[in-house]
Amino acid sequence: MIVRFDIEVRVAYIRCPECGEQVSSKAYNCPHCGCPMPLFGGGKAKAKKHAVLAGVGCLGLIAVIAAAYLLVTRVL
Ligand SMILES: [Zn+2]
Repeated sequence: MIVRFDIEVRVAYIRCPECGEQVSSKAYNCPHCGCPMPLFGGGKAKAKKHAVLAGVGCLGLIAVIAAAYLLVTRVL
């Protein structure tokens, strides 16, 4: 039996300024051309704030996934 996790993971996509491809806002570099993303490579103070926010968001996401996992395993 295959248990599918249909959890919507919201990842913001930004356009690479170099090649114009869509890149995850969590990426440090563009996977297409290697261009550093402005979110992290730009203003240092801003980047730090964004990194902290991303860390908090990741913890929240892990909590949501863990809660969903517990719910699913309890139902089965
Ligand atoms: Zn690129």
